[in-house]
Amino acid sequence: MDRMAAALSGLLHDLGSFAQLAGAIGQQADPASFVPTSFRTRASQEALTKITALADRLAAGGLVSPSQQRPRRLLSVFCQIGEDQSRRPSARYLPLRPLALSKEALFPDPAKNDDVKAYASLWQQFQKDAQTLQRESDLETYLESLYHLLHRTTWCVPSAAEGVSLFDHSRVTAALAACLADLSEAELDRLLNAPEDSTTPLAYLVEGDISGVQRFIYTLTSKGVAKGLRGRSFYLQLLNEAIARYILRELNLPITNLIYVGGGHFYLLIPPREGERLYRIQQTLEELLLKHHDGALYLALGCGELRAADFQADNFSGKWREVGRSVGEAKRRRFANVPHLFQPRGHGGNEEGECQVCHAERKDVTADSEGVRKCALCRSLEDLGGALGRSQVLALGQIAPAEQEAGGWEALLAELGFKVAALDNEVERRLSGWVGVTRATVLGLRDFPEATLVARVARALRCPVATGVRYTVNVTPRKGQYEVATFEDLQEASIGLKRLGVLRMDVDDLGYLFGQGFRGTQNGKPRNLATLARVASLSSLMSLFFEGWVGELCQKVNEENRDRGVDVLYTIYSGGDDLFIVGAWDVLPGLARTIREDLGRFAAGNPYVHVSAGITLHGGKYPLYLAADDAAGALEGAKGLSGKDALTFLGESHHWGDWTEVDDYKNELHGLVHTSQGQVGRSLLQVLQRMYRQYRDVRDALAERGGLRARNGKDQTVWGPYMWQSAYLLTRLADRVGNDVEKRVLELRDRLSANNFRAIETVGLAARWAEALTRSTSHTKEGDE
Ligand SMILES: [Zn+2]
Repeated sequence: MDRMAAALSGLLHDLGSFAQLAGAIGQQADPASFVPTSFRTRASQEALTKITALADRLAAGGLVSPSQQRPRRLLSVFCQIGEDQSRRPSARYLPLRPLALSKEALFPDPAKNDDVKAYASLWQQFQKDAQTLQRESDLETYLESLYHLLHRTTWCVPSAAEGVSLFDHSRVTAALAACLADLSEAELDRLLNAPEDSTTPLAYLVEGDISGVQRFIYTLTSKGVAKGLRGRSFYLQLLNEAIARYILRELNLPITNLIYVGGGHFYLLIPPREGERLYRIQQTLEELLLKHHDGALYLALGCGELRAADFQADNFSGKWREVGRSVGEAKRRRFANVPHLFQPRGHGGNEEGECQVCHAERKDVTADSEGVRKCALCRSLEDLGGALGRSQVLALGQIAPAEQEAGGWEALLAELGFKVAALDNEVERRLSGWVGVTRATVLGLRDFPEATLVARVARALRCPVATGVRYTVNVTPRKGQYEVATFEDLQEASIGLKRLGVLRMDVDDLGYLFGQGFRGTQNGKPRNLATLARVASLSSLMSLFFEGWVGELCQKVNEENRDRGVDVLYTIYSGGDDLFIVGAWDVLPGLARTIREDLGRFAAGNPYVHVSAGITLHGGKYPLYLAADDAAGALEGAKGLSGKDALTFLGESHHWGDWTEVDDYKNELHGLVHTSQGQVGRSLLQVLQRMYRQYRDVRDALAERGGLRARNGKDQTVWGPYMWQSAYLLTRLADRVGNDVEKRVLELRDRLSANNFRAIETVGLAARWAEALTRSTSHTKEGDE
């Protein structure tokens, strides 16, 4: 049986329920009548029906809503996770809107009444767009466009599988159908009657993970850093996608079998009979990575066999963990199959031949106009960063894989059979050199691409073109119209203290959420209700937030700070469940808080879903890999607090809630310093900081002797001379100033001394923050704060 035909049948199998919800049933006998007949008659209908029925059942994992209780709105997957069901949030439903990067489309709402009009309009849009899918294309391209169209319009529509969107249920059904296409009809009949079968392998769940990413991005000298970074990070994203697609293509599988791609790894579903070929593909990929990246990047593949019983709730999460463990083992065995790895590479003392950016010793190292020696790869990655600019669309062309000399970033991709370009408006010029492209995909980075642009690509390449979206955070700071701002520019753009800020964030306890999060009770019995579709949908939504929404938030910060004459933020990486952003330090705490709050709203207010952050401040010439390490340390500090869900900033870790208080005091102090116009001035901030330092010394000494429950002493009284001293000094300060300011200083003193001076923790930190914001001179001292 044709795998593509099976996948098409799987993608469309539940379309009738969409039509029904939209009240469109009856108008049309067949909701999928738009599919060209040439694609529908490629396989025996009887076999297709059986394959689809089995795939549908496996995808639902035995968790099907009874038809009389089918919900009309899709409950957010975030309302379905959290071990203790009583702590889960109240019901929130996805807005009935096409997928887009807007609050209205992304954030779930409590409205229970369905909106007939909204359904009708979604259904109309789907039908209209489905009619225009390229009929002259090949089935593979058609499937890819249909897949993206379903993503756009049915990501918010409930399916027959409990708590899973029609899109996620349909794509997983399609992936399984493609795997089941290999089975004989007799085998299908047997399996249809044996839902708990644990003998016949039906699919392999494959996880791929690119390692070495951190070093690849951050092991850089400062020369040319800003431009190169975005190119390096984007290249890794392209490589991840290209490797996943290369495997699919080698195994003759459709896009539906790419269950997840993002954050440097991917999941595929492949038929069991392809296990042997996958092993050979893996060897090829290892050799290619070694050839083009000298062992700096490597791919770990893990694999788990899925039988019918494994798809059932209670069993699936164990399988998911098994695949994760298998990737871990593959990482430890890295390159074991490639014998020449352990021969010394590079660093042979030949300084002339060493790239000053990545430190690899390569034949193609040459000096640029500023005398910096760079290898061809590093040069090309800087160009990629520049070309990426503010492009909104990515074009992927499929060519015959052909051997390539190691060199620029395009070489390995070409050897995998891909041409890649970030497109702006100059479509024809960018694609003019593309020859031998057999099919292509046009992916929007922030929104689905305009039909006219896709048509231009199709005309330029004269091949079938699929279209869809691959959200990518692409915020590169500009100085003036065209120039990419340097780290020094960002540092100078900060308010007060001139420092470059580094922000790292990542979702807390993600492994736990996936492994245990779906635990709950069903019919009074405790069960783990994770299914492939649920896990896939949780991963995809998490990526949607980090790859899509975070970019919008960063754009907004840049726009709000236009008057500084230079953009303030640079997103080096945001994807999967974490991010790395640099910028003018003063805007980072606010950005981090907004991301935390929006993730909360996006996750339906689920108390189990939270994120921690670390912000560090550096001189613009401080090496980025050290700054990255320092920020990672700060992030770890935040995660060290009980319950995590915290931020480290100015060297102190607190839960987000406590930072609200710090922020308020910071605003009050900042205001006081400004309004008193030199009357209390910055001496107020200095007094508070001196008291804070005394307090911290006592607190940390106590903590070291185990006298404090947590390093954060907020819950306990920390006795010390700072108490009477600060009361005395603030009173004296108040005496020196006029009425209104005097009153505010005395109020501050009273709030501080209340409750055994517990507020010193927040007020002291607020004083440091306000001090940094009001410092006017640029300090040349390098290093972190
Ligand atoms: Zn290099």
